[in-house]
Amino acid sequence: MSNSPDYPALVLRRGEERRLRAGHLWVFSNEVDVARTPLTGFQPGDPVTILEAGGKPVGTGYVNPSTLIAARLVDRAGHALDRSLVVHRLKVALSLRERLFAEPYYRLVFGESDGLPGLTVERFGDVVVAQATTAGMDRLRDEVTEAIVKVLAPSALLWKNDSGARAIEGLADSVEVVHGTLDGPAIAREGGVDFLCDLREGQKTGWFYDQRGNRDRLAPYARGAKVLDVFSYLGGWGLRAAAFGASAVECVDASARAVAGINANIDRNGMRDRVQAHAADAFEFLKAARAERRKWDVVILDPPAFVKRKKDFKEGSLAYRRLNELGMQVLERDGILITCSCSHHMPREALIDGLQAGARHLDRQVQLLEPLSQAADHPVHPAIPETDYLKGVIARVIPA
Ligand code: SAH
Repeated sequence: MSNSPDYPALVLRRGEERRLRAGHLWVFSNEVDVARTPLTGFQPGDPVTILEAGGKPVGTGYVNPSTLIAARLVDRAGHALDRSLVVHRLKVALSLRERLFAEPYYRLVFGESDGLPGLTVERFGDVVVAQATTAGMDRLRDEVTEAIVKVLAPSALLWKNDSGARAIEGLADSVEVVHGTLDGPAIAREGGVDFLCDLREGQKTGWFYDQRGNRDRLAPYARGAKVLDVFSYLGGWGLRAAAFGASAVECVDASARAVAGINANIDRNGMRDRVQAHAADAFEFLKAARAERRKWDVVILDPPAFVKRKKDFKEGSLAYRRLNELGMQVLERDGILITCSCSHHMPREALIDGLQAGARHLDRQVQLLEPLSQAADHPVHPAIPETDYLKGVIARVIPA
């Protein structure tokens, strides 16, 4: 790592260093002293040294003149944004995951929380997937590639640069294997179950490792139970439930590709006798099941984010409430509802309030058994609330 690199300065307005000193990593465009360092003088992704108004350095980072977040702080010690910095960060991230997990199936880098703003890295055995969502991180693509190859020696490294966030940063999409070869699907292994994941075509970075710790908690509820896994994607919750001894499992997802994936995973794990997959809209499926008076012992609701932006809160929180009511209506008299939200803008309390309102509306009683949150390979950055996004609860629903 080289100290004091020769980066152009980005000068903050007086007092605007305070949030950064308190731990945050983002500089908003209105916090930059544009008279002294005009943002128009930078290209998206340019490395900078961030300075207080008085000239004291805050650290090195990168800039994007065309986004609301004008800069992200990467290193408070002022090191250059180079391969050796990335290698260092990867090693720090790796030592946590190696303590958490016996095998290399996890998220290795969770952006800001792991000191690499704009970068996600996940491991699927000896296959690695990386995603850059900011111009500054995209600029470092070759350095990140070299660092990953050096630290992990993967058989393949895929850059899955197709997140919607890239367009906002002015970046084009590209999905590309830059090291080794990747033939066919990769595997995410959880609790002894193998999930085949099509990394090139799959959703997000291919698998939802954030729910792994929550799926681990299915054991006491799944044993001998009839389980419905709604918004199943590749069958994560449902197949884990089957492995824990569920007697019958149904998985529902609207995506035909996802359902083909669930079926491949059912076969791969020899669960054809116990697990079924349906391609259907979740709300339609639940309404039809309600009309047919079908019931399950455990219902899992793990939908995509319904509140993507703050202004969607009202509509989105209503969708969670409607979904939870439908879920309760297909539960046995003494049932377990597992409900989740991955919307940062949906506070835990709002999810619980909706659940309780729905239960009262149906004249049921809800007992909150276990709070759920993202797994420890998605650490929360205490100064950046956006990094704390996944919430849920395991609840028991009984007659009032
Ligand atoms: N439960 C999954 C992750 C779910 S991601 C896991 O543990 O891995 C959300 C999933 O919901 C996606 O697979 C998407 O295809 C599906 N989906 C989105 N809208 C849907 C709808 N209206 N009905 C059913 N599935 C839907």
